[in-house]
Amino acid sequence: MKVFVTGGAGYIGSHVVKALGEKGHDVLVYDDLRTGNRWAVLHGRLVVADLADVQALDEAFRQFRPDAVMHFAASIVVPESVRNPVEYYLNNTACTLNLLRAMLAHGTGRLIFSSTAAVYGIAGTSPIRETAPLAPINPYGTSKMVNEIILRDTVFAHDDFRYVSLRYFNVAGADGQARIGQAYKEATHLITRALKTARGEMERLDIYGTDYPTPDGTCIRDYIHVEDLADAHVLALDYLAAGGASEVFNLGYGHGFSVREVVNAVRRTTGIDFSVAETGRREGDPPELVAGNEKIKALLGWRPLRDDLDHIIKTAWQWERKLDSLTRTLSHGEREKRSGG
Ligand code: UDP
Repeated sequence: MKVFVTGGAGYIGSHVVKALGEKGHDVLVYDDLRTGNRWAVLHGRLVVADLADVQALDEAFRQFRPDAVMHFAASIVVPESVRNPVEYYLNNTACTLNLLRAMLAHGTGRLIFSSTAAVYGIAGTSPIRETAPLAPINPYGTSKMVNEIILRDTVFAHDDFRYVSLRYFNVAGADGQARIGQAYKEATHLITRALKTARGEMERLDIYGTDYPTPDGTCIRDYIHVEDLADAHVLALDYLAAGGASEVFNLGYGHGFSVREVVNAVRRTTGIDFSVAETGRREGDPPELVAGNEKIKALLGWRPLRDDLDHIIKTAWQWERKLDSLTRTLSHGEREKRSGG
């Protein structure tokens, strides 16, 4: 199939592009590289453009004529969304509208949308099922919830439009061969920050809040390996291609770890006893997010193959070490270019 992938040069998108390539799909990545990287696109072609640029978007659809779209491009940092809601709604919601308009105009009727567990807010149940009320507690989660509502309305209005929305829990880990992985300019996710602290790039790791209503007082999250998450996208594509109806699925393993448990696992896996400080809560963090995953297993036949926190951390650790040498090589290349070398 011809698959148009927004944000395909980013962390999650690039792993899905890899999985699509391995299955023989034809991929066009549409990414403005604001957080993505050219080297992360292991398959297909890359168009460097912004979803806000409706002409570039239209042109890319006109030329590629995709059968399906996967939409990863979004801003994803919860505290940043609390400080800057307008930018979040513009990038996450307004740009999704641009994409939908292009899809409808060009007759592309299948969409796989990257949603998030943040749509649930403080769920009060664990694991959380897809039928739980949507009550996000930060603009990031709200921007994704609004998109889900827009998708639902679009299905009602257009017979030939169907979508799968995947509500990601905490995505972590990297490609088994360490070719791609998380490479944000500023790391915000727990496992990545813990690994950077273990490498000495950060002086200490802060634990944001120890007074949550959880067994050890720190927040609980369901950490899912990015390759298991990528597999679910390929299954969702097959499902839509086979005529499956629009659906929303949680995507996580169904059990969680506290921040302290993750810290211990990172220490154990790396063998490095890095320093940790207990600080106050970070804005917008629900105490516990664990996926009920029966629905995706039943309807898409998804089977997690890497449900092992130590394995997740090990692949992320391999990648962190690779990224360091990659960054050094790239900045060396930049220096050469500037000096005319
Ligand atoms: N967290 C932490 N220290 C950090 C980064 C994150 O204690 O340096 C906590 C954060 O408060 C949350 C959990 O780790 O409870 C997971 O945060 P992350 O940013 O990885 O993902 P989120 O759940 O916000 O999507």
